[in-house]
Amino acid sequence: MGIQLFKANFDVEACLAQVRECLEKGWTGMGFKTVEFEEAWKKYTGHKYAYYINSNTAGLYMAVDTLKEKLNWNDGDEVISTPLTFISTNHAIAKSNLKAVFADVDDTLCLDPVSVEKHITPKTRAVIFVGFGGNTGRFKEIVTICRKHGLKLILDAAHMSGTRYRDGSVPGTDGEADITVYSFQAVKNLPTGDSGIICTDDADLDCIFRKKAWLGINKDTYSRSVNSEGTYKWKYDVEYVGDKYNGNAIMAGIALAQLPYLDRDNAYRRTLAQWYTEAFEKYPKQIGLVTVPKDCVSSRHLFQIMVKDRDGLMTYLNSNDVFPGVHYVANTDYRMYDYAKGTCPNAEFASEHILSLPMHMGITFDDVRYISELVIKYIIEIKNGESFR
Ligand SMILES: *Cc1c(COP(=O)(O)O)cnc(C)c1O
Repeated sequence: MGIQLFKANFDVEACLAQVRECLEKGWTGMGFKTVEFEEAWKKYTGHKYAYYINSNTAGLYMAVDTLKEKLNWNDGDEVISTPLTFISTNHAIAKSNLKAVFADVDDTLCLDPVSVEKHITPKTRAVIFVGFGGNTGRFKEIVTICRKHGLKLILDAAHMSGTRYRDGSVPGTDGEADITVYSFQAVKNLPTGDSGIICTDDADLDCIFRKKAWLGINKDTYSRSVNSEGTYKWKYDVEYVGDKYNGNAIMAGIALAQLPYLDRDNAYRRTLAQWYTEAFEKYPKQIGLVTVPKDCVSSRHLFQIMVKDRDGLMTYLNSNDVFPGVHYVANTDYRMYDYAKGTCPNAEFASEHILSLPMHMGITFDDVRYISELVIKYIIEIKNGESFR
């Protein structure tokens, strides 16, 4: 099978025990394990409110949509975002009939605060920041800019499960972001099948998410049955057309089984990143690396390099049974966002030169050596040491 980019690592017995508990109890839907996981996640991160949902995408859709409704934003109002992300981030803006305005990234591949500030107009309402690969980039500066200009801030933390600042605090907590959304999709750092969690410090927002994610129904089944005193409180009201974004107990059980391993796994990811870095830092002209600020203890969802002939290197690695990935093609290259094509040179440069190397619990020191030797052979011998810029 060769060496794959991602491979989820599960404590199979612990996961099965969680799933068995759900099946024996006869409770596989929303509630039970979803509530238990919400409590565990709040304790792990420090977010005040957390609502377990079926994906990060659902959470981002709900985050933008809820802010728009609550704050009476108009169609066509602007949200500043990055071109270098999975398409969910920017679709969340478009889905709410708002306009994604693309700012450029810096050497951390996260939004550049200088570029963000340049893109603020009277119609700007919010910024969505992506902690790319687990990196905090210059997020704290973005927080300051948002406060200064009265903008809402959404943190797409799909890659950031387990990322902390050096002092141990979690990005987005303590009022840094208005809403933070994580992904527990199959290849993320805390893998389930598909799920995510939407976090905030605002009780009112949390309350809206819980209704909106369940068709607009204003009380969930579980709270109805556990709060009942003798009689089953079966009545509920419906306030508006909501979505079906809630998470379920089976996925939450897997998340609960995996959470105790998150810090250990992320520490190993940082070790892998360190091994790759030591191999490549001798070739700063030929192999570009991504800056991780001193203050960031990254979850290291990704390890990325930039080279001149990325596509050639990809083919060469594939022919040697190594299967890297590309994160991401700049969204401004896609037809629906190409109105901004050419406006974010750093993101577009990365898009053409970047490669994500295999990064998961199954990668060994020997694998890193094998992969990095192949990369160096290709760049230094086969391509005669061509510079990546
Ligand atoms: C994976 C990912 C998402 C979407 O997460 P899902 O849980 O699969 O919906 C959003 N943003 C980024 C940056 C991602 O990597």
